[in-house]
Amino acid sequence: MIVIMDPRATGDEIESVTQEIQKIGFRPFMNPGVERKVIAVLGELDVHKADLIDHFQAMAGVARVELISDLWKLASRSYHPGDSVVDAGGALIGGNEIVVAAGPCSVESEEQMLQLAHEAKAAGAKLLRGGAFKPRTSPYAFQGLGEEGLRILAKASDETGLPVVTEVMDTHDVDMVCRYADVLQIGTRNMQNYALLKRVGSTGYPVLLKRGLGSKIRDLLMSAEYIISEGNQNVILCERGITTFEDSTRNTTDINAVPVLKNWTHLPVMLDPSHATGNWQYVGPVAKAAVAAGADGLLIEIHADPAHALSDGPQSLKPSKFRQLMGQLRLIAQAVDRTMGDGG
Ligand code: PEP
Ligand code: MN
Repeated sequence: MIVIMDPRATGDEIESVTQEIQKIGFRPFMNPGVERKVIAVLGELDVHKADLIDHFQAMAGVARVELISDLWKLASRSYHPGDSVVDAGGALIGGNEIVVAAGPCSVESEEQMLQLAHEAKAAGAKLLRGGAFKPRTSPYAFQGLGEEGLRILAKASDETGLPVVTEVMDTHDVDMVCRYADVLQIGTRNMQNYALLKRVGSTGYPVLLKRGLGSKIRDLLMSAEYIISEGNQNVILCERGITTFEDSTRNTTDINAVPVLKNWTHLPVMLDPSHATGNWQYVGPVAKAAVAAGADGLLIEIHADPAHALSDGPQSLKPSKFRQLMGQLRLIAQAVDRTMGDGG
């Protein structure tokens, strides 16, 4: 349920409504900085809905009261009808501009990361990606450089001016990752790690939340709700392919997820064609489909020497191919009335 205050409501009136919500046993939530004063009433609303609506409707300063039928409340378009724009370290995601985050799967060395960071920037990427903590299927596979990888990412960011998105896998590492990165990535395997979601929610840092490989769109939104209900509405959703019976690609891109999410939520939506396909040859076609379908951004893996990459070489684009793709994406962006920045 949401209580929409009259634009002329006084601070005291807003305070009275907030206190009343608490008194009845619910949790009030108000988006800081949003002009339309809307107070969400969070908690189990199974009983006496009609009475509650009448109760709040009668209070001074209240314009109207609405029920939000979606299970995700704060992520819902009914709660926030406009598109949310997330400031990801200066890169605005969710506005008219399509934003591309590019970089290697794993940070492997300073030399590798700096080179790719300059390539990414020159091609028009607005964020750098790179994993320092890697969620690998095998415990014997390369696990990432840890804090050294974060330090390298921060250096690449300093040199290029591009903000950094990197995965955090453990609640104990959140503070450390915040010291180096601009955006915290929650990987597919951790989409339903609720302790981690709450922890990143409490930081206020932008969060790139990837869809679980076996999760429904609804579950993705419920996970976003965990983060937002901690007071952090800076959530960017990312479709990255799901597991299906199809085995000709690593995962199956759920392109439908893009328009469905844009319909159901105000949060920005990105798509990761690298993990969705697992094959560099299909990254371009799926990236183009994502922009055409209304995605707000892309997460793309690049590598100068994919054959020797420490992780995900087969799905990594060489910088020259990435540049070429960015040129094509710009044309598709124009065709759907979006912009896409140049390199520099
Ligand atoms: C990644 O983007 O580095 C990654 C591991 O992706 P996912 O969690 O989608 O597999
Ligand atoms: Mn990867």
